[in-house]
Amino acid sequence: MGENDPFGAVRELEHDGTTYKMADLTVLEEEGLCELDKLPVSIRILLESVLRNVDGKNITADDVRNAASWQPDVPDVELPFQPSRVVLQDLTGVPAVVDLAALRSAVDRKDRDPSIVEPEIPCDLVIDHSVQVDYFGDEDAYEKNVELEYERNEERYRSIKWAQQAFENFEVVPPGTGIVHQVNLEHLGRVVHEREEDGDEWLVPDTLVGTDSHTPMIGGIGVVGWGVGGIEAEAAMLGQPITMGLPEVVGVRLEGDLPEGATATDLVLHLTEKLRQVGVVDRFVEFYGPGVENLTVADRATISNMAPEQGSTISMFPVDDKTLEYLELTGRDQDHIELVKEYLDAQGLFGEQEPEYTETVDFDLSTVEPSLAGHKKPHSRIPMGDLDEHFPNLLEDQGVVQADGAAEVKHDLELGDKVPVTLDDGTEVEIGHGSVLVSAITSCTNTSNPSVMLAAGLLARNAVEKGLDVPDYVKTSLAPGSRVVTAYLEESGLMDDLEELGYSVVGYGCTTCIGNSGPLQDPIKDAIDEHDLWATSVLSGNRNFEARIHPKIAANYLASPPLVVAYGLAGRMDIDLEEDPIGHDDEGNPVFLEDIWPDTEELHDMVHNSVSPEMFEEKYASVYEGDERWEALEAPTGDVYDWDDESTYIREPPFFQDFPLEEPGVEDIANARCLMTLGDTVTTDHISPAGPFGEDLPAGQWLKERGVEPHEFNTYGSRRGNHEVMMRGTFANVRIENEMLDGKTGGYAKHLPSGEETTVFEASGRYRDDDTPLIVMSGIEFGTGSSRDWAAKGTDLLGIRATIAKSYERIYRDNLLGMGVLPLQFEDGEGWEELGLDGTEVYSIEGLDDGLEMNDELTVVAEHEDGETTEFNVTAQVSTPAAVEYIENGGVLHKVLRELLTEE
Ligand code: SF4
Repeated sequence: MGENDPFGAVRELEHDGTTYKMADLTVLEEEGLCELDKLPVSIRILLESVLRNVDGKNITADDVRNAASWQPDVPDVELPFQPSRVVLQDLTGVPAVVDLAALRSAVDRKDRDPSIVEPEIPCDLVIDHSVQVDYFGDEDAYEKNVELEYERNEERYRSIKWAQQAFENFEVVPPGTGIVHQVNLEHLGRVVHEREEDGDEWLVPDTLVGTDSHTPMIGGIGVVGWGVGGIEAEAAMLGQPITMGLPEVVGVRLEGDLPEGATATDLVLHLTEKLRQVGVVDRFVEFYGPGVENLTVADRATISNMAPEQGSTISMFPVDDKTLEYLELTGRDQDHIELVKEYLDAQGLFGEQEPEYTETVDFDLSTVEPSLAGHKKPHSRIPMGDLDEHFPNLLEDQGVVQADGAAEVKHDLELGDKVPVTLDDGTEVEIGHGSVLVSAITSCTNTSNPSVMLAAGLLARNAVEKGLDVPDYVKTSLAPGSRVVTAYLEESGLMDDLEELGYSVVGYGCTTCIGNSGPLQDPIKDAIDEHDLWATSVLSGNRNFEARIHPKIAANYLASPPLVVAYGLAGRMDIDLEEDPIGHDDEGNPVFLEDIWPDTEELHDMVHNSVSPEMFEEKYASVYEGDERWEALEAPTGDVYDWDDESTYIREPPFFQDFPLEEPGVEDIANARCLMTLGDTVTTDHISPAGPFGEDLPAGQWLKERGVEPHEFNTYGSRRGNHEVMMRGTFANVRIENEMLDGKTGGYAKHLPSGEETTVFEASGRYRDDDTPLIVMSGIEFGTGSSRDWAAKGTDLLGIRATIAKSYERIYRDNLLGMGVLPLQFEDGEGWEELGLDGTEVYSIEGLDDGLEMNDELTVVAEHEDGETTEFNVTAQVSTPAAVEYIENGGVLHKVLRELLTEE
């Protein structure tokens, strides 16, 4: 609690002999500030945070009044929010560690005590994003993959181990344990925290931010948490409130029940499609209504997981009896569960609520049908029965085949044609357009849900019994999100059947979901190249953007774990599994999907009998310990990180070197060049890819010059502790299209005025050398996708001072602000194309010399090569005073550091 209690809100709650303190929301109602039951639950939880943290300085009584003033037609006020904890995964966590280490080095260089840089709230970093599927299909796959994971990531993991001993509030879940959001759901999430502060025991709602966009998955157990950039998370760790606009809240009223044969994955694909249509970007979503109690908590978590794909900041469920049962099932302490209920009852937050919402949406669960999403957007849902039409249409749209199915001129294969391929082990296979090359049971979206995981196992068992098998060209994998999944699959006896079909455990991590699907065999890649094959992947993940799963796989489909196995068995996506046989039994009889689909009652019994609290208690008892590899890992010690100049993984970033104590402020941007003109929906994957890269690219060249062989390059994601690699990888996705280059894809730019085409990195370096500031222009939804602070850090390091887009995804925009890069937005109806611009102009951005205001209207003057000018207005996407300060300071961490260093 802050020093002040201007509303007299602190009260005591007795539980089992302990006196707890809490910030009582009902006091605000008594004060006439709000009617609590009209406020959405998520808003009440934000309000509690503001109320409890009033200190008269960073958070004031007026902030409480502002938060309490929430109405369906949301007032334009800002809210300083202090989460109760932070979660990180290793791809975003390593750069956070590197930044914290860099801050400590900067403080140390100024002869101050480095330990003044210390997380103020608990932080958990789960190492899950680095394991790759190099080995698959046999019992040793896990051991071999984890061995390689350590080999590739040793330096990064050392830095994490350093952080664990250097900071007090920093815990690490070592590799091979689980996936961050599943570990969060099954273990870390408390719903209500018991916290000791200044000798008092406090009860506070569990709230968090995470350096991963799927953090809202925790909304499945009624916890408010969302994904932020690493930069924002670091600021939150260091005690900075996150400043946010009071959000609109959309209520989704669920009714009915899921029909036979429909899974939670099918449901989430429907809701994702629906909510994208409704438009929930920058909004909170809450589920309510009679359908809520028909969903298990695991189903709810699957829905909450895909909040970013839906477009929302959070998509959360109420805490009800089912939530308490889930806490019990997952081995949480009984006394704590009682305390959760008592606290939430006292705050009026337990059970079904029907507050007022900004907008309501109705959804009938009984309308859900088996579905997939593809070929490159998670909200492009396709009913399973339409796949046989979808795929030919897709190939036609893409110019691969003509309307009659015949091959287009540049392709030599028609749909249905096959080419022979000899695999590495000599096996002869045939593949064609639509062949499934990757079939992956992956992603915390689904691996946290026993019903779909056991359904996959039952389908595998039924398929094995029918004598079906997965074709040899399909790369099969199973990546459980926690050790508990393996325990219940083994308990049920279904692990053997999954292994029989090749779905053996490849790792406890994100694997294919984050693009770590590992290599395809060379003969397969050659066949794809030679025949321009449109090969496919099917995965139980939440994202299927272009080139995310594998650069050679053109179309990616999201589906439930049982459907992942089903399409793996079929070996192709251009099939209607409702009508066409999935394969043939030993006697040559056709076998249909319905013949092997799990029986509902059997599945229900299987879930009931195979999953127990003891499994969770046992598997999570040693969650921070790790295996013998983690134990043996030698890591640096001490308060200040010992940077190694030779390291190709961890290097001190330039952000705080030669750090001036005076803030740089803002000024007009003159004579800038445009580095790239981009279309719509450029993702953070396009801007800062996470996957592998070759020696022909700038990042690969830099590593090669330092003696790193291509097979040791690892992925961009794993190199995020090295700014040299990351800035070279910025805007370097092989599929990004800079429209200044007439259809050429990849990270290329045209240097001006020379007109030479080169890489984005090389061009930006030439501009930097002659002090030319840069801009990038884009279409709608700029920066959509995963939260990647390197998408903003790389943008900054390339020398890009401002971006101009038709619209932004929130996290990327916030990360740009956090790095001091100015996000500007075209006026409605305008864009670079509409204005007749092509990026060859010289740009000036005017209106900053007098300082930056929130939502400032600025003028851009573009001078064409013939001397003509185009003038247009843009709006600065800077909507809070704190964001203005970030831009004035050159970034949020710069602001924090400046404050730390200038404090007496
Ligand atoms: S499995 Fe997928 S959604 Fe889950 S944390 Fe990993 S990358 Fe994110």
